Amino acid sequence: MNLEEEFRVAPGSRVQLRDSDADRTPGVNREEGEREHAKNVVRIRDLQHRLYAEGRRSLLVVLQGMDAAGKDGTIRHVFGPTNPQGVQVSAFGKPTSNELAHDYLWRVHSRAPSRGHIGVFNRSHYEDVLIVRVLGLVPDKAWKRRYDHINAFEEMLVDEGTTVLKFFLHVSADEQLKRLTKRLTNPAKAWKYNAEDFSKRSRRPAYVEAYEDMLEKCSTKHAPWHVIPADNKWFRNHAIAGIVADRLEHMDPELPELPEDGHRMRETLEGTREG
Ligand code: ATP
Ligand code: MG
Repeated sequence: MNLEEEFRVAPGSRVQLRDSDADRTPGVNREEGEREHAKNVVRIRDLQHRLYAEGRRSLLVVLQGMDAAGKDGTIRHVFGPTNPQGVQVSAFGKPTSNELAHDYLWRVHSRAPSRGHIGVFNRSHYEDVLIVRVLGLVPDKAWKRRYDHINAFEEMLVDEGTTVLKFFLHVSADEQLKRLTKRLTNPAKAWKYNAEDFSKRSRRPAYVEAYEDMLEKCSTKHAPWHVIPADNKWFRNHAIAGIVADRLEHMDPELPELPEDGHRMRETLEGTREG
């Protein structure tokens, strides 16, 4: 199965998240999915090495999803084995006063991956048309203008050599509640507890509408959105790693060859050894 085609949102089309099963696992069972995943993370590790060595292009992976959708787990399971020197993870929480003193893309642009690097966004500029919209943190006419800004911004990144892949981790209301409840009962997860997660959950319909608008308006040819069924963690990992690996392979980063003076150095050294 071509994972990218299966989950990509066609530009301008409306995804009905309510009708889209968050627990489906098309095409694979768990055993196969985990086996594939193990291979995909090795592909990602090797291709990331080549991307870094080539040093000309970059990859930006944007992760969005409701609380407990699995953004942190995805980062661990997909990018865990990569070289930390070439991968930057940026989490975007509530903006600081300095960030709020600038336009909303300012903090995001400064974290865009440099050439040779993979950038992973744990939340992103999309918060500025999601929580900001739902809580009414800016006037309606302000957030409505942002879809065009965002599309233009991402197109600019692509034109300048960054491949952009966006993933919406889709969890059902039931699975989300299960995971948020674990934060109350499992001491290892207590640090993630935040009362706001429950109040946000109670506004799920407003968030769903904001997500659907975001997917419809901002899945573009240059920077597509993918809706990943994320109730099953193994499937989420399998699908995202597969799409990232395929895309890196398609980019086909090349290991640079030994430069001219390197060849001369080699001849000199070989000459010394023979002489
Ligand atoms: P988890 O998904 O595991 O709960 P998290 O991503 O929610 O983790 P937190 O640090 O708990 O991490 O929360 C970050 C919060 O900041 C989120 O509620 C998010 O919606 C909010 N946030 C991000 N960007 C903005 C923004 N531009 N304006 C207002 N709130 C924002
Ligand atoms: Mg949270």
